[in-house]
Amino acid sequence: VDFIQALPKAELHAHLNGCIPISELQKLAHEYSPTSSELSSDVVSAGISRLQDGVVLDEIYDFFNLFPAIYALTSNPMALRQATRAVLAQFLDGPHPQCAYLELRSTPRATAEMSRTEYVRAVLDEVERYPRARAALIVSLDRRMGPEVLRECVHIARSLKEQDRRVVGVDLCGDPQAGDMEAFAEHFVEAKLAGLGITLHIAETPANSAVETLQLLSYAPDRLGHATFLDETAKTAVRATKACIEICLSSNLLCKTVPRLEDHHLRYYLEHDHPVAICTDDTLPFRTSLVGEYALLLAAPPLGLGLSEAEVRRIAEMGMGARFGRL
Ligand code: IMP
Repeated sequence: VDFIQALPKAELHAHLNGCIPISELQKLAHEYSPTSSELSSDVVSAGISRLQDGVVLDEIYDFFNLFPAIYALTSNPMALRQATRAVLAQFLDGPHPQCAYLELRSTPRATAEMSRTEYVRAVLDEVERYPRARAALIVSLDRRMGPEVLRECVHIARSLKEQDRRVVGVDLCGDPQAGDMEAFAEHFVEAKLAGLGITLHIAETPANSAVETLQLLSYAPDRLGHATFLDETAKTAVRATKACIEICLSSNLLCKTVPRLEDHHLRYYLEHDHPVAICTDDTLPFRTSLVGEYALLLAAPPLGLGLSEAEVRRIAEMGMGARFGRL
């Protein structure tokens, strides 16, 4: 643990609403008083208890059903700021912080109590309490978004960056089977022109087609999330892009997209000296931490990948080298 703690590490793939500490969610649940259009307190409490007990997922799609209860608790600026502060503290505070640098990501959400712009401003207010060298924000675009919301979210990311707020990139996330990726093309061009980094969840499930994968690669991403189900053509194309792969070991195992660590595609990228970053994805449902994910690299098989300290040090350097904050 001393070796891992001392390594300068970057967390580049962490979804805000998937990383709220359970103690913080319980506090928010205690204060929750729903309006008629929101989830009832009982439904929210049941969702939070499920998270507290530790979720077992039959497949990745079960995972997306965990979010409505969390969203009910982060649907006004004050609660969102409180949750964001707890997430940042979890990664960055204390004598032995999980990481030196955190690039948190979140999907702008309009609710009865805030607009999408207010959502992003609330998150940024918390992110910017830390120095630029320690924390930044990526605006997530959900595959389920329609054209107007997509346009609005990219506009928010762009204009806040122009105002020197700490938005460093855009992400494509959400239900891996939803959406028409063609419709996203113009938005990634716009984001890139504005100097924002691009990271895309890609080939996360076997249902993601090879055609879609190549289409997403044509958007010139700087980084890729997961990149699990790539055929040989796509692997070659990915290697040519040099885009850093954000690897989330526990997430892949618990969502059952990778059966065993010994089969993990991380090995392929290491063998080909392709940049990777070790990340947590969603610390709450996957019950993990960045130190825990690094521990999996060092642990002997079958519990871990059995890598040497020199290999793990190199991986941490690759993560630090892939920060959008440096673009
Ligand atoms: P938020 O963007 O802060 O609201 O974080 C939660 C959201 O991140 C979820 O509703 C999903 O859309 C997205 N997300 C979290 N983990 C994953 C993943 O592994 N794949 C795709 N999307 C994800």
